[in-house]
Amino acid sequence: MLTYVSDIIYLVSAVFFIVGIKMLSSPATARRGNYLSALAMVMTVGTTLVVGQIADYTWIIAGVAVGTVVGALAAQWVKMTAMPQLVALFNGLGGAASGLVAVSEYFRRLDTLESYLVIVILLSLTVGAITLSGSLIAYGKLQELIPGRPITYPLQNWGNLLLMLAALGVGIFLVIEPSRIDWFLVLVGISLLIGVLMVLPIGGADMPVVVALLNSFSGIAVAFTGFVLSAKVLIIVGSLVGASGIFLTVAMCVAMNRSVWNVIFGAFGQLDVAAAGPGVAPAAQGAVKAYTIDDALVMLENSDLVIIVPGFGMAAAQAQHAVRELSDKLGERGIEVKFAVHPVAGRMPGHMNVLLAEANVPYDQLYDMDAINDQFKTAGVAMVIGANDVVNPAANEDPSSPIYGMPILRAEEARTVMVLKRSMNPGFAGIDNQLFLRDNTMMLFGDAKSTLSKLVAALKN
Ligand code: NDP
Repeated sequence: MLTYVSDIIYLVSAVFFIVGIKMLSSPATARRGNYLSALAMVMTVGTTLVVGQIADYTWIIAGVAVGTVVGALAAQWVKMTAMPQLVALFNGLGGAASGLVAVSEYFRRLDTLESYLVIVILLSLTVGAITLSGSLIAYGKLQELIPGRPITYPLQNWGNLLLMLAALGVGIFLVIEPSRIDWFLVLVGISLLIGVLMVLPIGGADMPVVVALLNSFSGIAVAFTGFVLSAKVLIIVGSLVGASGIFLTVAMCVAMNRSVWNVIFGAFGQLDVAAAGPGVAPAAQGAVKAYTIDDALVMLENSDLVIIVPGFGMAAAQAQHAVRELSDKLGERGIEVKFAVHPVAGRMPGHMNVLLAEANVPYDQLYDMDAINDQFKTAGVAMVIGANDVVNPAANEDPSSPIYGMPILRAEEARTVMVLKRSMNPGFAGIDNQLFLRDNTMMLFGDAKSTLSKLVAALKN
């Protein structure tokens, strides 16, 4: 009877997970989707704790306590701008969990290992270990503990291919000889090494794609763990994370004009952040003209439509509430305001959507790149707030640019482009942006939040 009830709860949870992830696809339903998925998680874990014939709860309680404290503190302390690192770390922990379950099941069932079980244990172990070490390297790069630029050496891809073949060979051997603990440990080592060597040569602008890919890997590892433990709900949840991670990876590649293959195996063609660097700034600095709040006010008041383009700088300045205030003030004067959201604006997928939602910007004011790009030419002002790479016209116009071909928001087509940033420093890709030098561009130098607050104050008067 208990098994029957628990199976039903697992099934309902699985449906909640699927519906929850679907709801994440729109800002209007994302919050509820998150709650629904969290509820499903509580149901699943709670049921397992009740029906799982657990002899001793001590370690489970200790783990839950530590995890709760770490999770709660991380949610409070970690800044929005450091979110990619946090996600990378969480992915790594997911991989570690799957890998550790695989190791413990291997040793626990060493005497009765059948081929099927060995295969799923090895898959869970390998993918989990690659996810763990790869994510730690991604974390190190994003946190600047190790150089963020691509680290390359001769015959890199061949070396990685050789390691993958070695892992396959050892895996096949272990299926034939499952009790060879020494080779099992060799496979752990090879898998960890693959993760490290796979991520080391990836750098600069490709890092977000790698984090999305590792997210997918963590899901795949969980799905394999589900097969190891015969836990259907793990298989479903793992598959969901694995599949959505792959979709996200592909979507980000498209948004950055990169192929997945090129990102993973291509220590070629990537943006060389170190080489471009902020060295472009001083030369360009002299050529631009800084405008005042009053100049900006005149332009805004003479517009019927203002399109706001938020970018990483808005997140860094925590300017989302000031943006909302400005948008409201403009709205009160009958000026239509729309927000143009680039898929890789900021430092994590959905970064801008989350911030704007936090500031209660109505969802119907948010537009995806494809939906808004044709409207820039009808806008009086395109207000670029801490965005840079995502509005760089070089992506359309300069075939020698490293970002050539990347779809961008065509802010330059507005009658006036108003750029709020602190200096002429480049963005994440480390490259110059000619938009800032154009005749129809006015630079409003300063911290985005402070500039916006001044604009709001001026509008109030
Ligand atoms: P960029 O990184 O291109 O530019 C951000 C700009 O914000 C900088 O030029 C900076 O100029 C300005 N800035 C920083 N702090 C402030 C502040 N306090 N006030 C005002 N301006 C500020 O941002 P975009 O959003 O345009 O592009 C995102 C980039 O990040 C892309 O290259 C993308 O590929 C990459 N990326 C995206 C991820 C994602 O998942 N979304 C993840 C990781 C990377 P200044 O210093 O002069 O103020």
